[in-house]
Amino acid sequence: MIGRCEVAIVGSGFAGSLMARVLAVLGYDVVLLERGKHPRFAIGESTTPLANLSLERLARRYGLDDCYQLAAHGRWLEHFPELRRGLKRGFTFYRHHPGEAFANHGLDSERLLVAASPHAAVSDSHWMRADVDDHFVGRAIDAGVDYRDLVELTKAEIGLGGVRLTGAREGAAFELRANFLIDASGPGGFLARQLAIASGLERTATRSALVFSHFDGVRLTAEVVPGLPEGPYPDDWAAVHHIIDEGWMYSLRFDDGVTSAGFALTPSGLADLKMAQPVDAPALWRALLARYPSLERAFGDAKRVMPIGFVPRIQHRLTQAVGDRWALLPHAYAFVDPLFSTGIAWGLRAVERLALAFESAAGGRRLPDRGQLARYETLLAVEADQIDRLVAASYDAMAHFDLFAAHAMIYFAIVSYAEAHQRLVASDSLAWSGFLGVGDTQAEPLLRESCARLCDITKGTRLTGSAEDRRRYANWVREAIAPRNVAGLADPLRHNLYPVDLDVLVDRHALFGMSRDQLVAALPALRGVTPAPTVQVL
Ligand SMILES: Cc1cc2nc3c(=O)[nH]c(=O)nc-3n(C[C@H](O)[C@H](O)[C@H](O)COP(=O)(O)OP(=O)(O)OC[C@H]3O[C@@H](n4cnc5c(N)ncnc54)[C@H](O)[C@@H]3O)c2cc1C
Repeated sequence: MIGRCEVAIVGSGFAGSLMARVLAVLGYDVVLLERGKHPRFAIGESTTPLANLSLERLARRYGLDDCYQLAAHGRWLEHFPELRRGLKRGFTFYRHHPGEAFANHGLDSERLLVAASPHAAVSDSHWMRADVDDHFVGRAIDAGVDYRDLVELTKAEIGLGGVRLTGAREGAAFELRANFLIDASGPGGFLARQLAIASGLERTATRSALVFSHFDGVRLTAEVVPGLPEGPYPDDWAAVHHIIDEGWMYSLRFDDGVTSAGFALTPSGLADLKMAQPVDAPALWRALLARYPSLERAFGDAKRVMPIGFVPRIQHRLTQAVGDRWALLPHAYAFVDPLFSTGIAWGLRAVERLALAFESAAGGRRLPDRGQLARYETLLAVEADQIDRLVAASYDAMAHFDLFAAHAMIYFAIVSYAEAHQRLVASDSLAWSGFLGVGDTQAEPLLRESCARLCDITKGTRLTGSAEDRRRYANWVREAIAPRNVAGLADPLRHNLYPVDLDVLVDRHALFGMSRDQLVAALPALRGVTPAPTVQVL
């Protein structure tokens, strides 16, 4: 069987499916190839305001109503109650110590809560990827995408004349010719293997292993640590991060009671656990719970709803992201770590960028021009480095909770400023703005500087430094983020509990180059209330 199309996309995670669908809306003839079959489990579930702003822009520009509805928890519940999701009001962090229950020291607890939304209706969601990815594939098919699952691709040949893919589906060989290939295969790394793209992993400082699963019956924080002071939202309706000596654990609660959880472990943290090789994932899981009594209490009686998995290293990075007739989506190009949930937002931003690149070619050559592809690749490379700086420095800062909480303020300052800016400007060209402060002269250098300062304190060996070292670092963070601090962050009077505070935002109107009145007029948009897309722009 020989087929032809304009654009072939390998991999139907949400990114591949949305990419395919947008290109179909733009009039491209698209084939989407998947080696598995939906619905299927996928990891990477927690969204952020920047991810949802990308979804809203895609919705508005390409007439994808469901993307708008899925971009806020309240709208999701109203329109797609059958798609499983979890309410995510913000980012919750706790520091645990081996052999000790998490200590409730009131407002001085090793606890940090940063709200991402003012209330549940406009909040972010955790995506049950089995449902969400299946939904997006279905919508891609409805938009005219030719979707083929259970495909085993064996070869990709890319030349001046185009792309030739060969493979088999259910025992029948096929060949597909395309003008352009987008690799959305994530860590499957389809094109990396086919084109022998060199690894760039040495650019990534972060190293972590992962042990993970989905569980039923995980206890709420209020049951495990009763009497914690009230935070800006209920602690568990968030991306919950448990920092431990060996790394950290994520815990994402879905509305139906299932919790997605996993430990990301540093090489030394994993070595300290002295597990027999090859690692027995359930034994590793039990060993970690046994070391941390509050985690044991939360997860000890929970039932896993799928096998516990283990991945010895989750990082990957390539040296090239585009060619004349191909492009990688971010998860095929690089991945650092789930800390701070950057993956979905980054993936959606890249879908927007490639969509704009194809859009500008739709009436002519029908291939994105080299300049746009080069711009896309340059941004991905700098952004992957920036994500790595954020995460590597966070692992360093885990030596002491005060260092971690201070460093985290840089992330929250950068993304909350970017979010407010995007809500104020609301232009589709924002897709080309850099992720995580890239290209913002005030924000971009902060993470590099923070890495250096933290390394001075921890010496890369988890030294905690003196109380004075930590105070000096926290003071530096407070001053350094000031030009982007529109959320009242790094304020000792808040005791690490940060609500969405629109009064602070209004007070800091000058940081957006706006008058107080102009900012007040924009408050509905800043509250996360964006109008439904009524008119398809194209
Ligand atoms: C432990 C962990 C936790 C994470 N948590 C978060 C989080 O909370 N928030 C967040 O924003 N991000 C998170 N991420 C990142 C997130 O998983 C990714 O950003 C996201 O999955 C990218 O989606 P995608 O559609 O690009 O690729 P993927 O979800 O990786 O999908 C790739 C698809 O390609 C298919 N495929 C692979 N190889 C082939 C092939 N040869 N032929 C055909 N099809 C193929 C696969 O079957 C799959 O369907 C996490 C990542 C990890 C590892």
